[in-house]
Amino acid sequence: MSFYDHIIVGGGILGASIAFHISKKSNDTILVLERNDFASGASSRSAGLVLQGSTKKSNIPLAKKTVEVISQLEQELGETVEYHKTGSLRLASSKERVSELNSMIETASLFDVDVSVPSDQDINKMAPWLNQEEIQQAAFFPSDGYLDSYRLTWHYLKAAKNNGVKFRSNLAATEVIIDGSKICGIDTADGKFFSPNLILAGGVWTSLFASKIKVPIATAPVRSHYWLTEPNLDYGSAGSITIMPDVSAYTRPELGGLLLGVQENECAVFDARKLPEDLQYFSPTLGEDHWDILLNSYSDISRFFPKIESANFSSYISGLSSYTPDGEIILGPIAEIDGLYVAAGDCGSGVSLSGGIGSIISEIILDGESDLYSSSFKPNRFGKVDPFNEEFLNKCAMARSKKSRKMK
Ligand SMILES: Cc1cc2nc3c(=O)[nH]c(=O)nc-3n(C[C@H](O)[C@H](O)[C@H](O)COP(=O)(O)OP(=O)(O)OC[C@H]3O[C@@H](n4cnc5c(N)ncnc54)[C@H](O)[C@@H]3O)c2cc1C
Repeated sequence: MSFYDHIIVGGGILGASIAFHISKKSNDTILVLERNDFASGASSRSAGLVLQGSTKKSNIPLAKKTVEVISQLEQELGETVEYHKTGSLRLASSKERVSELNSMIETASLFDVDVSVPSDQDINKMAPWLNQEEIQQAAFFPSDGYLDSYRLTWHYLKAAKNNGVKFRSNLAATEVIIDGSKICGIDTADGKFFSPNLILAGGVWTSLFASKIKVPIATAPVRSHYWLTEPNLDYGSAGSITIMPDVSAYTRPELGGLLLGVQENECAVFDARKLPEDLQYFSPTLGEDHWDILLNSYSDISRFFPKIESANFSSYISGLSSYTPDGEIILGPIAEIDGLYVAAGDCGSGVSLSGGIGSIISEIILDGESDLYSSSFKPNRFGKVDPFNEEFLNKCAMARSKKSRKMK
């Protein structure tokens, strides 16, 4: 068959969640097209944190929705997603971060996200490696957790398949077929596929694909990375996620050891036109050695994690997230082209937001509106940008850095 009600380009966590949500709400025909293997892009490399507390108010209902959808998927499939509901402990050690955290606590309560102020004893259980003397304020979000984002992507895909969604892997969308200002479908090496609705969820390549029809998608590929330690009893057996914005770092338990993510003050940013189509063997470095990046962060992180110097780091994982100049996602219809929708600019939170993003796109397409939608997601909010221009790339890298930049 070559006609579908909806075609989704990109088989990562966002494309998969959108397919699941549209198929759950309708009997429409849907095709998901992935040019490599499903879930082989950023969705196979993430640290898998699902965080509902956020400094971006617009994201909170989306992350909440993801936590709901995880249980829904488990029920539908009769299979666990292995969501480790450890909670997340957010720590502040400067006046500015204390005030940011207090406002996060207030906002979380407004959105009915569970949050509490943990005791020193609780903190010690959740992060026995932590130097509590640094902490001026802490908040605990008990329903946060972490998971394997590859596994969650496959849960979305399996549930979508049960609802009748069709999939093609190792097949790229090469062109958009358009009639005036109306979407008609896509072209591929295996022929044309027709549809009045096209949803672009191609991760860091979305801006490049959309540029074929001169639609500017204001995102840039920015590096994210983390290191893993070997197992160590000192890290405790009941650990939670910790977020330490003062030193631009986060941790979560990983097989008896710790996963340590370090957010750089000057983020490496890339031109989407120069990326390979498969990132399997692509290492997003600018010539630096990743151990140097880690070593350079020791003096900051040791304020919270005094024994970092004796930690045995054994692995390094890196990948690309797509960032926007204002740190908000890009989501919704493209006003100028009838039937074109985009879900991109994940800003490093695509796993956390996946349930909300899928739900929003399905509601906008099928009902014309979504209660979870915020105007801060509008794809055209930056006007006519050139997503490959150096100044633009630097703005996106700055937005990434600001997420974690140390406050003076
Ligand atoms: C190191 C790292 C750590 C992270 N940690 C977290 C975290 O803890 N929590 C969190 O919420 N987020 C995290 N993220 C971000 C998260 O991984 C992403 O937001 C999410 O995976 C994006 O999903 P996606 O579906 O948009 O992109 P992808 O998973 O990259 O999928 C896009 C897919 O589209 C396909 N595609 C592109 N163009 C075409 C085409 N023309 N035709 C067919 N297919 C095409 C690609 O092959 C790719 O498979 C992290 C990211 C990285 C790199």
